Amino acid sequence: MKKILFLLSLVSLLSFSCKNSVQEEKKETVEQSVEVKLDYSATSALKYLSSDELSGRDTGSEGIEKAAIFIEKVFRKFEVKPYFESYRDSFKLKEVDGYNVVGVLKSKQESNLKPLLIGAHFDHIGHIKAVEGDSIANGANDNASGTVAVLELAKFLSDKDLKRDVIFALFSAEEKGLVGSRHLANKMKSMQVEPYMVFNIEMLGVQMVDKDYRAYVTGYEMSNFTEEFNKSYDNQFLGFLPQAKEYGLFKRSDNYPFYEVFEIPSHTICTFDFTNYEYYHHVNDEFEELEVEAFVKLVDDLKPGVLDLANSDENKIILN
Ligand SMILES: [Zn+2]
Repeated sequence: MKKILFLLSLVSLLSFSCKNSVQEEKKETVEQSVEVKLDYSATSALKYLSSDELSGRDTGSEGIEKAAIFIEKVFRKFEVKPYFESYRDSFKLKEVDGYNVVGVLKSKQESNLKPLLIGAHFDHIGHIKAVEGDSIANGANDNASGTVAVLELAKFLSDKDLKRDVIFALFSAEEKGLVGSRHLANKMKSMQVEPYMVFNIEMLGVQMVDKDYRAYVTGYEMSNFTEEFNKSYDNQFLGFLPQAKEYGLFKRSDNYPFYEVFEIPSHTICTFDFTNYEYYHHVNDEFEELEVEAFVKLVDDLKPGVLDLANSDENKIILN
């Protein structure tokens, strides 16, 4: 009898310590799994953010938490500082805890220019109806590509002498109705911080076909943004896509709440034109389906235009 009791308690002791170490191990693996290796690149970031491990980055999920930790690590690596007390800008969405991840590169000049806000949503739609056993909507184009573009621009601007602060906002709950961006716009309004303009990025992972520009601008006719941006290039870089106007895309991404709240120039740039990619909100929106090399080149080519935006005079970009 005694022996049995002893054995039992030994077993429960073992299983208890086992459980504890399993939990600790799990926590460690989550941290390690999002470790930004020294060989960070646009390609590896795109691959990671759209991997099955992140389960489609649904707002409130463990997958989006991993994406957020990853983004924070990249920010830290490139010395992008937390915009608030931490990088997180949290909000409640019914029972779900949502958060944007927001960083800033501060200007070292005393210019008093308004900050440029560069954004993209990093959430996606998680699990959807399975196709051939795959139910993960990876959101590689929508919008791991935009997220990586923002990280790359942060990396590029981090060693530049900036005339104005540049805020980098990775929004969540975009897919639930632009909830994250609306939250941040209202919060900045209450802080009395008005952005100079909002440069939002969506779906750059496939190239435009038979167009004489590289990406289109939503709300094209609302400001002189496209015209001014293109001055940084020999050829037309951004352009007008009639379908973008037809489908009201200006109101369908995270640029819109900033326009509503501040009435400032606020646009999304995008290359998905409804004919060049079959997998919008589909389980096959995966890394392997993207034109990765062309994407990396496009993001690279954005840099001079964005640098000019960051260092432009206060009133260069205005609403029409
Ligand atoms: Zn999107």
